[in-house]
Amino acid sequence: MSVVALSGLSQAKLLDWYDANQRPLPWRETDDPWAILLSEILLQQTQVSRGIVFWHRMIEAFPTIQSMATSPVDSVLKAWEGAGYYSRARRLHALSQYVMLPSSEGGYDGLLPQSYESLLSLPGIGPYTAAAVASIAFRQPSACIDGNIRRVMARQQKKLEPTNRQVQSWADQHLVHQRSGDWNQALMELGATVCTPQKPQCQHCPIESSCQGREGPTAYPKAKKTKVKEVTLWTCVEFDSRGNPIVHQRDKDGLFGGLWGPQINEGDVPEAIHEQVFAGVVKHKLSHRSMTVHVFISTKTSTKLALPLSEVATSVLDQKIIEAIKGTDYFSSKSVTE
Ligand code: SF4
Repeated sequence: MSVVALSGLSQAKLLDWYDANQRPLPWRETDDPWAILLSEILLQQTQVSRGIVFWHRMIEAFPTIQSMATSPVDSVLKAWEGAGYYSRARRLHALSQYVMLPSSEGGYDGLLPQSYESLLSLPGIGPYTAAAVASIAFRQPSACIDGNIRRVMARQQKKLEPTNRQVQSWADQHLVHQRSGDWNQALMELGATVCTPQKPQCQHCPIESSCQGREGPTAYPKAKKTKVKEVTLWTCVEFDSRGNPIVHQRDKDGLFGGLWGPQINEGDVPEAIHEQVFAGVVKHKLSHRSMTVHVFISTKTSTKLALPLSEVATSVLDQKIIEAIKGTDYFSSKSVTE
């Protein structure tokens, strides 16, 4: 392996460290591009510990691209239930169907394409995922950048606010072409386990000697302020005669798109709703939204029959709402079962 010491960074030391210290993640034990793609899509917005649980669940339910492409999108959403950011599941389903198309119709005959550019053209695949899959699954020389790599780069280079272009350029320059997948993962692993946001362990860092920011690492990069919007919502859940809550499938383009749940309304709680049974207040946080939901149970029994919740995909917020309802005396006295 040829290594270069750009900025003094020792690629050999980092790769040796990765070989000895990488976490035993299940997708690191397979060469199957589909399994690797699934892990990358999940890890986009899910922590590794939870990602492992969902990765096993998805691989069991959809072991191949074909198995997902021939399944209804609702069963993909059901398997994804609890992982959050459900548009990822819908796009993954669209991707599987696209890849299964014959090449004469613009598809890939059931095989994931190998190049960065082709991967980038698939539904739900952005620059990070395209580079990660191209390098890890297909050994293509593509350098990826994510939050971990940005932090390592900012500290190595003592940069307060590196732009994406600067981070990409740094990653491109340092990419070890012969082991591109391992190199990308080594940088990310370092950021996730050693060069962490709050407590970097510089004394255990294999590339400390080239780090310009090691005297005060937490200053780099400058923290970005995330604006979190506070939202007040309310819902009044109706039950059918069998004790199932009435749920609707949400519009696929909105929040929790394609998932099922009770009608949730934005805005202050209307006065008239207080005639119904108050079940409590549920709090739920997304990356840019902090939601407070006032939950009521309708005293009217619906004449329609609802689908049991076990048969449809629901969000964590909807599950919290149902839990709040189940905790009420009213629910117990009505012997409502779900
Ligand atoms: S020396 Fe410290 S700040 Fe620099 S890359 Fe290593 S862990 Fe991060």
